[in-house]
Amino acid sequence: MVIARGELLRYARGKDGYTARFEDRLARLIGVKHVLTVNSGSNALIAAMAAAGIGPGDEVLVPAYTWVATALAPLAVGAVPVLVNIDASLTIDPQDIERQITPFTKAIVPVHMQNVVCDMDAIMAIARRHQLLVIEDACQAVGLQYKGRRVGGIGDLGAFSFNHHKNITAGEGGAVLTNDDRYFERARMFHDPGAFIRDHAPTSEPLFSGLNCRVSELTGAVLHAQLGRLEPLLKTLHARYPGVADIFSGRPRCRPSPHHSPEDAVALSVLFDDPEEARIFGQTRGAGRLIDTGRHVFTNWEAVLSKRSFHERMNPHQWAHREITYNVEDHQATLDILSRTCRVSLGAQYPAPVMLLQKRTLRAAIDRLSAQSRPNGGG
Ligand SMILES: *Cc1c(COP(=O)(O)O)cnc(C)c1O
Repeated sequence: MVIARGELLRYARGKDGYTARFEDRLARLIGVKHVLTVNSGSNALIAAMAAAGIGPGDEVLVPAYTWVATALAPLAVGAVPVLVNIDASLTIDPQDIERQITPFTKAIVPVHMQNVVCDMDAIMAIARRHQLLVIEDACQAVGLQYKGRRVGGIGDLGAFSFNHHKNITAGEGGAVLTNDDRYFERARMFHDPGAFIRDHAPTSEPLFSGLNCRVSELTGAVLHAQLGRLEPLLKTLHARYPGVADIFSGRPRCRPSPHHSPEDAVALSVLFDDPEEARIFGQTRGAGRLIDTGRHVFTNWEAVLSKRSFHERMNPHQWAHREITYNVEDHQATLDILSRTCRVSLGAQYPAPVMLLQKRTLRAAIDRLSAQSRPNGGG
């Protein structure tokens, strides 16, 4: 349809375009005033930071467990990421946020990891007390609810990703969300070098230089179609959660990970006392110990840890007010939790009968572990 029309530019049809219609629908679903579709979740984070005026000299708090793009986004606008530990919920630890705040801290980026929501009440309270911005990285949590509100629309700004691995996808894509008119206008300018020739409503925001992070109508059309799949997916996951979580409840040495909005849970992980038991259980089909994949663990973020930039004079670390260090010893708490936590798939892709078999597999694996006596506390 898009191709037949030959109008692949998202602004060719104004409000009738697929991208614009997708943005309207997504804004209504999330309960946020503005949605701006961009070409990746990474660029959604960068556009959100640029929109909020984050830049050189600023410190941005990010969790030590997330996709590396969360930590790279501050660097792209000239700021530096400061790593914060996670807690057993696998999301940023509010107590460690308080410890990492300095006079130079500008923003907190809570990441709703793998469809698990952050402790938003605690985080918003800290942000208010210290006058910090909150930019939610909801790239892995599109559509999720926290105490009845949708994530991405709770902080000052939010970022979604629509890449291949996310809840809805166009292969690549992302979105910036905000209730703030000014942030929205600035994000729109940042993402479109052609902003000055568009017929947007007049704005008092002075034009500044940006980058092209626009999506084409091909992406907009795919996302428009994908949006209808989001609620059924989350409903399925939510319906399966209690039955699978139950398998791990009342056990001596493991339990479902704590959750900040249990009545809305759509993803399960299991916290063990003993990393070795977690390692063994993680080999079960449909499970995986988090530290063993490495993908989201800060120790693998070479581009961040090395503090290298594409050009030395564009290196944000030279503009920081103090030396920022990235020491493994400072984030043992994160590594400890990841070494004791296994993710357990709720099988969105499985039909119900396959899920029954899968539950049997999980139960057998955990029964086997529970039956082994470990008198030395797992030593
Ligand atoms: C996927 C992801 C991103 C980046 O999204 P892309 O669309 O791949 O650029 C950022 N943060 C988190 C937590 C993610 O999972």
